[in-house]
Amino acid sequence: MNISGKTKIVGIFGYPVEHTLSPVMHNSAFKHLNLDFCYVPFSVRPEMLENAIKGIRALNIVGVNITIPHKEAVIAFLDDISDEARFIGSVNTIKNFDGKLIGFNTDGKGFIKSLEEANIKIDNKKILMIGAGGAARAIGFYLCQEADKLYIYNRSIKRAEMLQNHLAHFKNNVLVAKESLICSKEFFSDLDIIINTTPLGLKSDDPLPLNADMLKKHQVVCDLIYKQTNLLHIASTIGCKTINGMGMLLWQGVLAFEKWTGIQPPVEIMRRTLMNHFLK
Ligand code: NAP
Repeated sequence: MNISGKTKIVGIFGYPVEHTLSPVMHNSAFKHLNLDFCYVPFSVRPEMLENAIKGIRALNIVGVNITIPHKEAVIAFLDDISDEARFIGSVNTIKNFDGKLIGFNTDGKGFIKSLEEANIKIDNKKILMIGAGGAARAIGFYLCQEADKLYIYNRSIKRAEMLQNHLAHFKNNVLVAKESLICSKEFFSDLDIIINTTPLGLKSDDPLPLNADMLKKHQVVCDLIYKQTNLLHIASTIGCKTINGMGMLLWQGVLAFEKWTGIQPPVEIMRRTLMNHFLK
């Protein structure tokens, strides 16, 4: 990579940010297209977020991704946000329009793109989403528009109810699933798609986010975690179609790349770069 006076800077603000795969993914795409851009990770402590955002204008940075823990807090420091980001309530991508900073959310659409390319349809489906955090909020916004029913099951029922109330502004097909419902064989076998949005599965000795004995082979099981989790392993043994979170990571990045550069990125190069890093 040849950095010059003309090189345009994009990057990611997060804390911690050491393990992010976005720099290798984006830089591989810039290199492939011979675009004079460079993607840099910035470790931004929560108390420095406002200053870091001002720095985008001061340093003429083209745009940044925003990751944990700043996706919601950052909204207060932007000039405007897209309708999607407003509905979802969080921002993962900022573009600098001549000093005017606009926030977008590409996480939810990124997940939907990953389903589409796996030929998984969500329209009129019964979907169970485990977890009610930021990622669940981003994907839940898109899922509820198409699904027959979207059930939310979460460790804290209060948070599940908060997400249900939020999504009820858009669609009245969102329900909170309590433990007793999740344990019902009738309820469970009627589900079409099950999505883990919790971090359970990141560590190999984590408990499963649900009772995997209940899974049936007609069901699609998704995990937002990038790797093959124990849940996905068991589900594929049963015969379920499974997808991990790598597609979501890829497509949220593709959509951010398009916003910053106005250019369609080389999706397969980005995918291959991510795969190579997972295999390391
Ligand atoms: P978050 O806002 O902190 O929400 C975490 C959710 O998981 C909450 O509902 C929380 O329940 C639940 N949870 C956490 N620990 C749990 C445990 N030990 N047992 C049961 N439930 C637990 O996090 P997030 O931003 O939504 O991220 C969630 C996951 O999605 C992470 O693994 C993240 O890496 C992944 N993710 C992937 C992508 C991608 O591109 N593939 C993008 C974004 C996020 P409570 O409400 O009860 O605390």
